[in-house]
Amino acid sequence: MNLVLLGAPGAGKGTVAQELVAEFGVAHISTGDLLRAAVKGGTELGIQAKKYMDAGELVPDQLVIDLVKERLAADDAQQGFILDGFPRNMVQAKKLWDALQQAGMKLDYVVEILLPREVAKNRIMGRRLCKNDNNHPNNIFIDAIKPNGDACRVCGGELTARADDQDEAAINKRHDIYYDDKTGTLAAAHYFKALAEKGETKYIVLNGQGTIDSIKETLIKELGLN
Ligand code: ADP
Repeated sequence: MNLVLLGAPGAGKGTVAQELVAEFGVAHISTGDLLRAAVKGGTELGIQAKKYMDAGELVPDQLVIDLVKERLAADDAQQGFILDGFPRNMVQAKKLWDALQQAGMKLDYVVEILLPREVAKNRIMGRRLCKNDNNHPNNIFIDAIKPNGDACRVCGGELTARADDQDEAAINKRHDIYYDDKTGTLAAAHYFKALAEKGETKYIVLNGQGTIDSIKETLIKELGLN
């Protein structure tokens, strides 16, 4: 199963991706996670990317496209993948489609998660990252995944907040890019919807409100895998 997850920052892409990984053993490819790892590792890419990420701006397309292409060529991605945070604009969407065609890979599904902007903003400001594993869900504003005091609810690890999650200007910028339907992420969404109308992929819309379990159940039903 090859799948692209679309959704505004804070809509719950990472959480849904984790559920799908646990269920189907596909590779989770999050460009945000890959870029943060590059920043942490002090690589050339990380050094270039950091200033854009701190400001909530897109890292230049070519850097991210090369990163994704390399990741898609890895062994584990041949068993299926979930792209999370990519594509984020029209240029990336077209490049992805071309790269998949060239590699003889299919894009089975595009899943768009809907969540009101204000709700998403609150979730972003409440989320915390576990030092041991980025994917441990912790959010001080969501009862179901509240941290254990100051510690990760899953492993007790130390929690931090991403700088770009505590900066309202950076959050607004990220949301503006998402809701831009001329060249931004919603433009990419329209591009995939048009491909779905031609039968070249399938397009699924999910309501991001509700519990993680209910969203997961709906998605599995929509994927026809229940
Ligand atoms: P969020 O979805 O909350 O914005 P991400 O972890 O997906 O968080 O992304 C964090 C930052 O990484 C973005 O604001 C951007 O600077 C960079 N980034 C992630 N994915 C892409 C992408 N596909 N193209 C360009 N920049 C990206």
